[in-house]
Amino acid sequence: MIPKNIIINAAHRAGFDLVGVVPATALAEERKRFEEWMIEGNHSTLRYLERNIEKRFDARLLVEGSRSIVICAVSYLSHISRGYAEGCRTKIASYALARDYHLTIKEMLHSLAEELKKVSPDMQYRAFTDSAPLAEKSLAVRAGLGWIGRNSLLVTPQYGSMLLLGELVINEDVDIYDEPVMKDGCGGCRMCRDNCPNGAIMDNRLIDTRRCISCRTIEREGECGAINLDGWIFGCDACQSVCPYNRRAPLHGNPRFDAVIDVTSLDEDRWRQMTDEEFARIASHTPLTRAGLERIRANISNKG
Ligand code: SF4
Ligand code: SF4
Repeated sequence: MIPKNIIINAAHRAGFDLVGVVPATALAEERKRFEEWMIEGNHSTLRYLERNIEKRFDARLLVEGSRSIVICAVSYLSHISRGYAEGCRTKIASYALARDYHLTIKEMLHSLAEELKKVSPDMQYRAFTDSAPLAEKSLAVRAGLGWIGRNSLLVTPQYGSMLLLGELVINEDVDIYDEPVMKDGCGGCRMCRDNCPNGAIMDNRLIDTRRCISCRTIEREGECGAINLDGWIFGCDACQSVCPYNRRAPLHGNPRFDAVIDVTSLDEDRWRQMTDEEFARIASHTPLTRAGLERIRANISNKG
């Protein structure tokens, strides 16, 4: 059995801002909600979401012998996260301006695991960040990190929603587990809904991915018909930039999430004239490589 305070301290030393621990159990309610959302077709062509639903909502099926899940979160909030200048047509979601978080978070999780192994040498683990069917946001809520905001994202009282999540699924029990915070911090606020350029935020805190710029600039081709991308060329921060919790949260304090792309120096002409070599130099090791230069150019040409 691992003492929770050891995990908390080790997670902070690994660079995470928030951490919680839950037992590895089935998330039945969350699974039902997810399935209802899918039945209505809101995941559109994100077909991979239809696979491994059992594992997504029960880590024991994902990792044999798992007993506990350590859920970690780290802020990437920057000045850019709070919004671009009016009229900017080359907006990039702020998380994508830094080194790819899949690489960084995995390194941080392995560093955390190595520390825990000093206390519990027989501990076995798997580290995940947006890389396996695991209901990360639901687990974070169960671990008391925050609540699901009206924009369907995890919102935390201290750090808002500009957070990246990572999980360690371990085969050890922990002496104390966290509980959800019952409070819904959104209250009567509707800022995210009111500021979504395409009305993609539905009732019940769900997103219609067909209308969501974040999905449409990265994941999706145009088979659902053109939408207004509102100047976003990769991802979209609009519903988060306006969130009062992000307006008052501290800027991120982990240099690993500093921007490596000077987005303000890249206007439409620069993107149109950019060579593949220049793109590789500017964007290598960032999430932008997921879309590629041609896709970014197509997003720039969007006429919605
Ligand atoms: S990411 Fe952008 S398009 Fe998607 S829900 Fe938020 S504001 Fe709307
Ligand atoms: S903008 Fe308002 S409603 Fe939306 S997530 Fe933030 S607090 Fe909740």
